[in-house]
Amino acid sequence: MIEPTGVAADAATILFNLPDYHVTSTSVTAGRRQVIVETDHPPGCPSCGVIASRRKERRFQRLRDIPVAGAVDVLWSKYRWYCEEVACDRLSFFESTSQVPRRARSTTRLRDQLVEAVIRSGRAGRNQLPASRCPGGWSGPR
Ligand SMILES: [Zn+2]
Repeated sequence: MIEPTGVAADAATILFNLPDYHVTSTSVTAGRRQVIVETDHPPGCPSCGVIASRRKERRFQRLRDIPVAGAVDVLWSKYRWYCEEVACDRLSFFESTSQVPRRARSTTRLRDQLVEAVIRSGRAGRNQLPASRCPGGWSGPR
């Protein structure tokens, strides 16, 4: 008998669609939706690259993220991991991902969407300016 070997994601994780994370809990309090997420895989140590296997502690970090069918409060259940590589000077580290790099407070997908919106609004603004008001006499695209 052949069975699929992949782990099926739950409905909330599929709908929230934040790469490298899965949804561990959702709730609605006073009309505000809250999503708690965790990373999918143990991280590598930022100093030596060895994959961590033992968690040290956890904290919740609030993340700014894109609206998903409206505003959502996103909390990342973020772990500090031990680096167990004997030759490594780093004893522990907090995990980070490509969606939330070290020290980031918002997701990469939010940043990308904001940059795209600024670029789009700049283009729209330029196209509406009369040619005489464009800096340097540039008349904009025709
Ligand atoms: Zn290390």
